[in-house]
Amino acid sequence: MTPHAAAAALNQLKTLKKSERMPVLFLGHGSPMNAIEDNDYRRTWQTLGAEFGAKLPKPQLILCISAHWLTRGWYLTGMAQPKTIHDFGGFPQALFDQQYPAPGAPAVAQEISQGIKQPAVGLDKQEWGLDHGTWAVLKPMFPQADIPVIQLSMDYGRPPAEHYALGRQLKALRGRGVLIVGSGNIVHNLRATQRGAASNQAYDWAIEFDKTIGAYLQQGNLAALPDFQKLGPVAQLAHPTYDHYLPLLHAAGAVDAREPLRFFNTSFQSASISMRSVLWG
Ligand code: ZN
Repeated sequence: MTPHAAAAALNQLKTLKKSERMPVLFLGHGSPMNAIEDNDYRRTWQTLGAEFGAKLPKPQLILCISAHWLTRGWYLTGMAQPKTIHDFGGFPQALFDQQYPAPGAPAVAQEISQGIKQPAVGLDKQEWGLDHGTWAVLKPMFPQADIPVIQLSMDYGRPPAEHYALGRQLKALRGRGVLIVGSGNIVHNLRATQRGAASNQAYDWAIEFDKTIGAYLQQGNLAALPDFQKLGPVAQLAHPTYDHYLPLLHAAGAVDAREPLRFFNTSFQSASISMRSVLWG
């Protein structure tokens, strides 16, 4: 064990204390470069992160559902020191040099997995860690990496409604200091990206899908979110695969329909990625 890992093990979060109700976040993460580029998205993450412990309660734990951890079955990271995963290719070395050494919380991961009735959620002790869906947003928000982070995987073989139902079972954790973060994108079509497109430029289908989902969220029509495929060709174009949409279902599951929300980063990256993000509570 490295000295760092030993220190992390000693200071491990063992249990969650009752807290005031934590907000819930859905973050559009977009390009991995947003983690290190000085742009509007990243600056917003920095400003938002600074609100926790000031205007917003400081989390005891962050539970992140990232678009980038797809598994057969469902898992929570259960290691004391999750590794930083650089799950992308073709980016500058500076991005591969990024580390996010936030501790894990194995005992709490176990407690959370036991609290989820359906489906069964296992503990992953060594495979995964923190992928860029998690660290690319958390590093700008919480640069000190002093809040423990657990990731929840997504079983892509299971229907969207099941992801939403799992999110509903996470809701109670908000009263115990857990900041639930879904990290994906409300529109995500990598085949259609236009590099260098301005943030107000996007395809018509991207704008339409983003607007429709934004309206569902605004109206508290959360139960409509899992049925997004009913929107037809527009949904198909917005999500040729829908891994980046699913984290929205987990986050929306953890909130009440009438809960106040605030949108931010409501623009597009490369014309086919909606960066629309949501803070509830
Ligand atoms: Zn992504």
